[in-house]
Amino acid sequence: MSGRYLVLSDVHRREWVASAARELLKEHSLDAVVLLGDITHFGPPQFAEEFIRDLGTTCYAVPGNCDPLGTEDYIKRAGTSLHGVKMTIDGRTWGGLGGSNPTIFNTPFEMTEEEISRLLGPVMEPGMVLVLHNPARGTFDTTFSGRHVGSTAAAQAIERCKPLVVLSGHIHEDRGVTDKNGVWYMNPGAAKDHYAGMMELDGSVRLTLLDLPS
Ligand SMILES: [Zn+2]
Repeated sequence: MSGRYLVLSDVHRREWVASAARELLKEHSLDAVVLLGDITHFGPPQFAEEFIRDLGTTCYAVPGNCDPLGTEDYIKRAGTSLHGVKMTIDGRTWGGLGGSNPTIFNTPFEMTEEEISRLLGPVMEPGMVLVLHNPARGTFDTTFSGRHVGSTAAAQAIERCKPLVVLSGHIHEDRGVTDKNGVWYMNPGAAKDHYAGMMELDGSVRLTLLDLPS
């Protein structure tokens, strides 16, 4: 049931992030990387494979809304995709969903709330680690303009099912750690802006915000 992970999101095709991440992995003796999507910046999808290989360790990932369709295939060549699946990792159930709900930017990987609800259904389990690109509505989903843009379907699924931890990215400007109604949440911030997070699981959960070295 235990594991210690580096959590990265929103790399947006910055190659330097991999070497900075390797430094943090070493410094904190972490076992693996959890990558929350927007690995590429509207492509190329091959970058996801190169980046994950460059991390040099086990990587669990979902694609983001700025990752073109097909990126998941490249994730799978170098790491493990958690998109729309659940699996046992280090003795605990993990599951995930990439992409986002509709944005005003019309990005490559967007889904309706109905689709998000349908895909999350079979993934959810109480006490799990839920790995999302797009935040749930109301938690780390506030844009610069103050609007909440997270997924209502994800919020409902979390409310119903009570995961142990929910990791999300996507909203670069709403970084943090919080616990609400018995669920822990973290948005590690955008790796391209030198932000990362650490998740330590044993009997309990510890979520810590970190800075990526330059
Ligand atoms: Zn995004």
